[in-house]
Amino acid sequence: MNKRAMITGASSGIGKATALMMARNGYNLIITGRREKRLHELADQLKKSEIEVKIMPFDIRDPQATRNAWNALSKEWKQLDVLVNNAGLAAGADPIQEGRWEDWEQMIDTNIKGLLSITRLVTPEMIKRNKGHIINVSSIASSEVYANGNVYCASKHAVHALTKGMRIDLLPHNIKVSSISPGMVETEFSIVRYHGDKGKADKVYEGLTPLNADDVADAIEFMITRPSHVNVNDMLLMPTAQASAVYNHRE
Ligand code: NDP
Repeated sequence: MNKRAMITGASSGIGKATALMMARNGYNLIITGRREKRLHELADQLKKSEIEVKIMPFDIRDPQATRNAWNALSKEWKQLDVLVNNAGLAAGADPIQEGRWEDWEQMIDTNIKGLLSITRLVTPEMIKRNKGHIINVSSIASSEVYANGNVYCASKHAVHALTKGMRIDLLPHNIKVSSISPGMVETEFSIVRYHGDKGKADKVYEGLTPLNADDVADAIEFMITRPSHVNVNDMLLMPTAQASAVYNHRE
């Protein structure tokens, strides 16, 4: 029987690449995100791997919508082997004194509270089966802080603390908790961060080769294919041209 996984934020970037990788590994998948059309298109692509796919279009910032989507699943679909907490974003890049409240709320509500609300629903089912694997998509921003990264970095520092806390709480229940912490990955991330300004987004990757979404999916593949007694606590994955959150080498 195929294993089951849920990937939040699968309509783009790292989540989408992870869904394709997990389909190749034979997982039946629940894919989530707000852009339903994209999820349908991805589902059609995933089904070529002869797996079952469920689409759950909801805004992860809305706990009631998240609960409703979860409650609509059958008993079998709720039995997840892997949860990839990926949905997230950076909104804005302003110094603290100029930051927009709406951006801050969006990051905190998605990156922290969204991750928590889905984890709260999934973990009791994993505990019943005494197995499971949660992978939090964190960031280099979970351990470093850079100029104008203030609230985004704080939200990923929170993901780092939650990953450690979840690992301790779920330890007696044989549930693995991992995080993947990438540096720059070229996805829709920077377009979203700069509120759709493609010019500014392109500048982020100018003169260097960033990671791509498949590079991160490869790292996640390594995590989910370890034997049951091995857990990858965290993996820090950087482009060769990036030494830290601050030091990049551009041609
Ligand atoms: P993308 O913008 O390409 O993808 C983000 C995904 O998150 C989309 O599928 C989006 O779906 C989903 N999402 C965002 N907000 C919500 C919401 N409110 N409700 C439901 N889904 C939501 O960016 P990435 O693939 O790069 O980002 C994925 C993760 O990787 C994020 O957590 C990000 O912080 C992290 N990361 C990214 C790095 C990078 O440089 N790209 C570096 C380090 C970490 P939709 O819009 O359809 O709702």
